[in-house]
Order: sequence, then C-alpha cells, then structure tokens
Amino acid sequence: MGSFYESHGSTAVITLDNPPINSLGLEHRSRISKGLKEALADDRVRAIVLIGSRGVFTGGADIREFNTPQALAEPSLPTLIDAFEDSPKPVIAAIAGVCMGGGVELALGCHFRVALADAQIALPEVKLGLLPGAGGTQRLPRLVGPELALKIIVTGDAVPAQNLRDSGLFDLIVDGNLFEAALRLAEQVISEKSPIRRTRTIVAQNLGGDAIFHRWKEQARAQSPNFPAPLKCIEAVEAAFALPVEQGLSFERQIFMELLQTNESKALRHAFFGERAAVKVKDLPEASRIRTIQQVGVVGGGTMGTGIAMNFLNAGIPVVLLEMKQDALDRCLGMIRKTYESAVKKGKLKIEQLETQMNLLTPTLSYESFQDVDLIIEAVFESMAVKEQVFRKIDAVAKAGAILASNTSTLDIDRIASFTKRPADVLGLHFFSPAHVMKLLEVVRGAKTSAEVLASAMNIAKTIKKTAVVSGVCDGFIGNRMIAAYSQQATNLLEEGALPEEVDRALEEFGMAMGPFRMSDLAGNDIGWAIRKHQQLTQPDPQYPRIADRLCELGRFGQKTGAGWYQYTAGSREAFPDSRVKELIDLYRSEKGLQLRQISQEEVVDRCILALVNEGAKILEENIAQRASDIDVVYLSGYGFPLYRGGPLFYADTRGLRAVIERMAQFLAKSGDSFWKPAALLSELAAKGLSFNSPP
Ligand code: NAD
Repeated sequence: MGSFYESHGSTAVITLDNPPINSLGLEHRSRISKGLKEALADDRVRAIVLIGSRGVFTGGADIREFNTPQALAEPSLPTLIDAFEDSPKPVIAAIAGVCMGGGVELALGCHFRVALADAQIALPEVKLGLLPGAGGTQRLPRLVGPELALKIIVTGDAVPAQNLRDSGLFDLIVDGNLFEAALRLAEQVISEKSPIRRTRTIVAQNLGGDAIFHRWKEQARAQSPNFPAPLKCIEAVEAAFALPVEQGLSFERQIFMELLQTNESKALRHAFFGERAAVKVKDLPEASRIRTIQQVGVVGGGTMGTGIAMNFLNAGIPVVLLEMKQDALDRCLGMIRKTYESAVKKGKLKIEQLETQMNLLTPTLSYESFQDVDLIIEAVFESMAVKEQVFRKIDAVAKAGAILASNTSTLDIDRIASFTKRPADVLGLHFFSPAHVMKLLEVVRGAKTSAEVLASAMNIAKTIKKTAVVSGVCDGFIGNRMIAAYSQQATNLLEEGALPEEVDRALEEFGMAMGPFRMSDLAGNDIGWAIRKHQQLTQPDPQYPRIADRLCELGRFGQKTGAGWYQYTAGSREAFPDSRVKELIDLYRSEKGLQLRQISQEEVVDRCILALVNEGAKILEENIAQRASDIDVVYLSGYGFPLYRGGPLFYADTRGLRAVIERMAQFLAKSGDSFWKPAALLSELAAKGLSFNSPP
C-alpha cells in the first residue's frame, strides 16, 4: 500500500487532494492525518510540507457535512489542526490558489507558511452566518493583531496573499514554483534548526485597547442588524486577547455551535445551496450539447433591451442591436454609453474598457444583420401582435441552430414559439430591471424547447454571471405570478383600512427591500394597469378593486412621472406620502361603502407573505418550478426578499407549515375569500408534518 506522504530528502510532503477544491471532508481528513502520523514515525523525516494538488490549497470544510455526524467525526478539523500544531517536526504550509475557511485554519496550525502572491485567503464563514470554528478566531489575531483579524473574519472577503505580505501571516511570499520554494524553506528550517513557533503559544497583543472592538461592534450593528454572526465573530476575536488560548478555543467552539442552530445561518446556507441547485435541470440529459454563443442579437433597445445588451458587452460578447427607427437606436446607444461613463466615474470601469465594450456593439435597423448571430433576445413592447411580427422576421433570417429568446414578462412562450418554424429553438429569457444589475434570470422552458437549447441557456446565464432559475410556462412565470397574489393582498388591505405607507412599512420592517407600493412606483403603475385592462377583457371580474386604476387615471405612474402611490421630487427616489393619495383612497372607500378597521402590522405581513407562500406552493405542485429552493432563489435574487429569512418557502418552513395553514384558515374564516384556500401541496405537507424544503 502506498504511503500517505512523499519523501523529498529529509522532507515529507503531504498533499491535500480531494477534487475539485480539496475540501476537508472526513475521508480526506483521515488521509491527511495518516500522512502526518507516518511522517512523524519515520526517523528520516525532519520537516513536513503540506501542499494542495492542482494549484489549490483547500477551499476548507466540506459544508455538506454540516449538521451531519461526519462533521464532528474524528479526526475532526480541530483535532487535525492540533495534531499539526503539536508536531515536534516543523510543518510548512505551502499555499496556492484558494485557501479558505478551514484551509486557513489548518495553515494557521502549521509552523511556517509560504504562499504564492496571488493565492486567495479568506475566512468566509460569516457569509454562512457562522464563524471560523476550528481555531481561526483565536490563532489569526495572535499572528496579525486585532484590526486585520477582524477585517478578515468579520467581512469574510478574500484577500490576495501579496496584500498580507507584512502582516505576520506568512514567512515567505513567492512567485513561480511554490513547491520548490516550500522544499527550500524546509531545508533551511532543518539546517538552521529554526525553532518551531506554535501559533497558540503566541501572546496575543492588542495595543489599541477596547476601542477597536467597540468600533467594529457599532459597525456590525449598523450594517447587519439582522445577522447575529458578525457580532459573534467580533466577540470571539476579543476573547483571543482576554482569555487563555484553551478557553478562547472552547468559547469559539461554543459560539460556532450556537450559530449553527440559528435561523439566519440556516437561511444563508439554504440560499447558498439553493443557488447551486438551481442550475441543475432535473430531466436534462447529462451530456446535452451546449451551443456556442459568439454573437448576440437584441431586438428592442428600450429599458430592458439596453440592459440586456450590456450584459453581453460586459462579458466581451459582440451584440447587434435592432430598433425600428434611427432616433430610438441613438437613444439606446446614448443610454449605454451614459451607464458606462457613470461606471468609469465611480471607478468601476476602466476608460479603455468603455471604448472596447462600445466597439462590440453594432446598431442596426435591419433584420439582415442577424444572419450570423447565435442567440437573439427579443425585448419589444409587451404585445402578442408585436411579438408575432418580430418572431416571424427573426425566423426568416436567423441561421439554423440560433437560439431565439423572448424577454416577455407575461406572454405565453409556447404561442411565441409557434410563430416560428423552429419551436425547439425558442425559450424565454426573463431578465429583471435594471437588467445589467439584477442577478436573477428566469429561464422559461416552453413545451417544445429542446434539452440542448435549455442547457445552452443555463450556460449563457453563467457566462453573464446571472442566477438562473428554470420556470415552466404560466402567467407571470415564478416570480411575477407570486407577486400578483402578494399585490392583490396589499391592495385589499387598502380597501380594509390600511394606507400604502403603512403596508410598505410593515413589509419593510419584515425585511423586504421595498414595500409593494414603493415597488410598484419603481416598476411603473401603468404596467399593472395594462395587464388588468387586458384581464378584464378576457376574464371580467366586476368585483376587482379599482383603487390602483384610479391612481393611473390621474397619470400617477410612479417614479417616472414624479408621482404614484407616493410623491417624488425631481432626481430623487425618496418616497413621500401624499395627502392626495389618501383623499383618493378615502373617496373610493366611501363610494363603495367599505367598513374600515385597524389593521395590525402582523396582519399586513402575514396577508402578503402567506399569499406568496400559497402561490409558491401551487407553482411547485404544478411543476412550474423544479424545487422549493428555486422559488426561494427567485425571491432572494429578484424581489428583495430578506436573505436572513431564506426566501418565502423557507420562511414558511421555519414557521412550520401547520402554523401557516392555521393562519390562512383564520383569514378564510374572516373574509370568506377562497383566495385563502391552501394549495393541495401545502395541506399535504402540513398534514404529514413535513416542509417544502425537506420533502420525504
Ligand atoms: P420599452 O418600452 O422600454 O422598450 C421597448 C422597445 O422596443 C422600444 O425602444 C421600442 O422602440 C422597441 N420596439 C417596439 N417594437 C419594435 C419592433 N417591432 N422592432 C424593433 N423594436 C421595437 O419596454 P421594456 O420595459 O424594455 O420592455 C420590453 C419587454 O421586456 C416587454 O416584453 C416587457 O414585458 C419585458 N420586461 C420588462 C421589464 C421591466 O421592468 N420594464 C422587466 C422584465 C421584462
């Protein structure tokens, strides 16, 4: 049987090797531990080098082991780190590529550290609502002092090793061959008989006193009021200076276990895994061919077309943009340039990049220019008749194998596909406004969309750094179909006695980035108005609340007209409640003879959020969404749902589905509105004591 280390003279080299990022799962930890034991037992070995395979040190703990017995099974990460630190033979960590979380903690347990200048060092546990739980909060401050330790641990952001050159963390920073540099350092340590420096034995020094911790805590309370982890990280670092190391380590361990159980950490981990799960399309053959996208066409250079085009320009992909008239084309180019110029001013884009990206853009008035493009995205007016015209023209010129996409928010992708002779090549790519900023992309799979086209679309999303979620075809897809139910409740609340600012405040305090009325003012109230007019033609409902229509009849379309549910001043997005809106609502209520009542904040939140939950359940049971976490990802990345609550369905799970059903039953009893009849899936899961996100 092969050894768990390789000999190079008197140096034993232990290799971290667990593709793709050498994460420190149980089996891997056992191998490393065996390597160390063998090296210690071998009299010829006088120093040990710990290095990662494939140019990566390690991405750290295997987070799939969280909350499983494997995480704590021996050798646990703390045990392994202690073993390296206790080693009587000097240990050198050789760090390249990624060195994160448990990887940094392992390196801190080694006696010497050499890194490639561009290695990325991070303790990102805080981003999952945790803290480094394998000694990181106690060892790092002993090497680098409180300020830098806090910066690394509390922000969780990666820092290139070269920026830590004089921090005390590294003995050597090198370019070029890390392996040779580590071996040379090992030989030097052997020949010079350098004393072994164990990080835990260093006396932690804080010359700045308590003020540092005070400042960081104030900042954490202000910046992340809803997350317990940043404050706990600070307390742990503080303990490194206040307590003997053993006590500090057990304090850290205790906080780690507490944080692991918080809803906030569970929500963050749910979101993390949810995003990774969303890119996997369930019934797609593994080996689906991916079409190469070298050039993109965009039809319509309005709000959305402009933003969509920028996504590709930013990724270095040439775009041909088509409009109906020259002045529309000029306006669109002007918008793109202006956006880039403002990015240059903010230091987010280099001036040379601005011109390079503009040069990738070809404006056109003719469909002939689309002959060579690989993907065409339509973003014209939201009208089936206009989409029909456009898709027939695209179909006539696009080359075989081109992907044809619509950015429609509400229209039937299958009908749009039927306007072409190649429905298998058609799908929806639903961007969110502003399209160059918002992370979410709903990839709408039509009845005939081919596996290859769908797989290619998921790949495109990755290229332009979007969070892609697959949706089936239905009115509004995942996100907007749910928001319709939410907005319906928000409007009903106005009829019952609440004001827009009260509804918004309640939901913003719940954590929504924006309440429903401020959101509607931002998106444009006229959009919903057009949809309602259309619905009243196709499915007339004499009872529907017309309060929002009244607002639109006054031209109060929202921010773009300076007035909507709120009043705005020129150039500002700040919303001021407006007495004229209250008068409009009062008049409407008295005309309809509505009974008003006091509505609690709790009711506002439950009415709107449980509306989202129930519609989400329907979407899941109809297989419009592939999995519950996809729905949560849509809401976290596209609708400003609070991250610390993990998305609407995760929130319902946290609350308990039985409690959700009981609350809905109260609303049903009070209003008699069949809206509150629970989705079959919700009832079924609740009855079985299950949750959306952990089905049997
Ligand atoms: P917009 O009115 O800002 O832009 C539409 C553009 O299309 C205009 O510049 C118009 O000149 C051009 N156009 C119209 N007919 C055309 C044709 N036949 N050929 C070429 N160009 C044509 O609209 P928008 O907000 O950008 O919306 C575009 C599409 O995106 C709609 O389907 C809409 O539902 C969808 N959408 C909008 C949003 C949003 O928040 N605005 C979000 C997601 C999806």
